[in-house]
Amino acid sequence: MRLSQFHLNTEKETPAEAEIVSHKLMLKAGMIRKLAAGLYTWSPLGLRVLRKVENIVREEMNRAGAVEMLMPTIQPRELWEETGRWEKFGGQLLKIKDRKEADYCYAPTAEEVVTDFARFELASYKQLPVNLYQIQTKFRDEIRPRFGVMRAREFLMKDAYSFHLDDASLQTEYRNMYDTYSRIFARLGLKFRAVFADTGAIGGSASHEFHVLADSGEDAIAFSDGSDYAANVELAEALAPGERPAATETLRKIDTPIQKTCEEVAALMGIPLQRTVKSVAIMGEDAEGKPQFALALVRGDHSVNEIKLSKSAGMAEYRLATEAEIRESLNASPGFLGPISATESIRVIADRSVASMADFVVGANEDGFHIAGVNWGRDLPEPEVADIRSVVEGDPSPDGKGTLGIARGIEVGHVFALGNKYSEAMDCTVLDAQGKPVNPLMGCYGIGVSRIVAAAIEQNHDDAGIRWPDAMAPWRVAVCVINPKNNPDVAAAAETLYQNLQAAGVDAVLDDRGLRPGAMFADIELIGIPHRVVVSERGVAAGTFEYRHRETSESENLDIDALNARIR
Ligand code: ATP
Ligand code: MG
Ligand code: MG
Ligand code: MG
Repeated sequence: MRLSQFHLNTEKETPAEAEIVSHKLMLKAGMIRKLAAGLYTWSPLGLRVLRKVENIVREEMNRAGAVEMLMPTIQPRELWEETGRWEKFGGQLLKIKDRKEADYCYAPTAEEVVTDFARFELASYKQLPVNLYQIQTKFRDEIRPRFGVMRAREFLMKDAYSFHLDDASLQTEYRNMYDTYSRIFARLGLKFRAVFADTGAIGGSASHEFHVLADSGEDAIAFSDGSDYAANVELAEALAPGERPAATETLRKIDTPIQKTCEEVAALMGIPLQRTVKSVAIMGEDAEGKPQFALALVRGDHSVNEIKLSKSAGMAEYRLATEAEIRESLNASPGFLGPISATESIRVIADRSVASMADFVVGANEDGFHIAGVNWGRDLPEPEVADIRSVVEGDPSPDGKGTLGIARGIEVGHVFALGNKYSEAMDCTVLDAQGKPVNPLMGCYGIGVSRIVAAAIEQNHDDAGIRWPDAMAPWRVAVCVINPKNNPDVAAAAETLYQNLQAAGVDAVLDDRGLRPGAMFADIELIGIPHRVVVSERGVAAGTFEYRHRETSESENLDIDALNARIR
């Protein structure tokens, strides 16, 4: 590619509307342009990066034995009624009507459509196991689309769905996908962690998330230094109210202002008592003056949690409630917390506001982690540590090995062992070896292809701009020509180098725009090209090229062999 023929449109100023560095840099580099809230156009430059990610995901999925297909983004209501998710999925489901007044939704995910495909296509156990995937646009009407393509409303996801005759086969494929995801993120050159996760609106038994580690991440993940244990802490700000956990019967009975000991509650829940944690709930009003309710589990400084919580619940102002208000509200409210994915969680749990402290019982059994509130209406403890990181840092871990550390993460992938939830609801059957119809077991596996682009920038940038890992860079090598118009020899030397790199299969771009060196180098640094080669009059006279890697501040004058050794 020659930049003179490309459409590169960088900005000098840092866009004021962007909060986090990846959003700033993607706008500044001209990778994306906003169309409306959560809707972005990918420029030719942005698309080159997106396609690199997409291709690595595709290659590794194919290598893992999954088979690509493509499903529509508009899905009929009837399928979603079959699984009950037309109502249950909540406000993220964008519902639309056609001219005949028939209801459709824009796909936030595709379990219904793929299960519908499977019930027509799969007849016999001989066709199993099979893993079908697509790389396709999704739409979720996020309450707070933000950070550019990081939390967009329209975004690109790789979603895969596997079908199995028995659990052993499902577990094998789950492991295969887990390993494949690890390979994908390693190939992309990202620092990541796989963590235990909540199964959320998708459902199912086992689930792991893959997080790119970055301080701006919306999720907090707790990990042990003594074992492989790692789990999503799911801080309140990562939870939109539409994603609040559903109440469970057991906890409905327990989450009342009856004074019980933690041991009694743990016994009622059938879990070993692993620890107790404090909680705080707050009551406030949103910008429109509507009452809001939020509750958080805390350790350390509860005031930090309150601020985060009030923000995430959209409260303009908040206060702690009186004991009488808590009792009244808890008596009137449905139950609160269900099984969760980590030993600590901060959650917004209902639509009205109550506030105060309770002890929480935390424990795990084969269904996962559970939490229940005990002794509502206690006084607030003294604040301990003024940093949200203290929530779990240094605690013993749930599996009894090592102590917990906490890191910020961006969820870029999620694998679920679904079981027969969808195949049963949608009456999808195959004949087993005895000729008996059975519901195949399913797994589903998502990767946020477009989110990965932003997440990679969060992890790889400096003051000058983006520092792409080689695998994701729009081009690996930039050949920059100084003053080509007035220097035919320099232009010819650059052209030859560029042609040779092309011929050798090196992903190179020729910067033949004739910009002044300062402006040209600033662009190349901003857009994050890993290898920069400058062809100048002085270099041509000396038979050398000026080479610099994006990670270093030093440039070197190299002859063609030494240069090739660096960039090929
Ligand atoms: P989050 O917790 O960030 O809302 P999710 O758990 O709702 O994500 P999944 O249903 O697990 O998302 O979807 C699979 C993947 O799709 C996620 O791991 C994430 O990488 C990506 N993804 C989900 N929502 C968005 C979004 N609004 N914008 C960009 N990517 C997204
Ligand atoms: Mg979500
Ligand atoms: Mg999530
Ligand atoms: Mg998820």
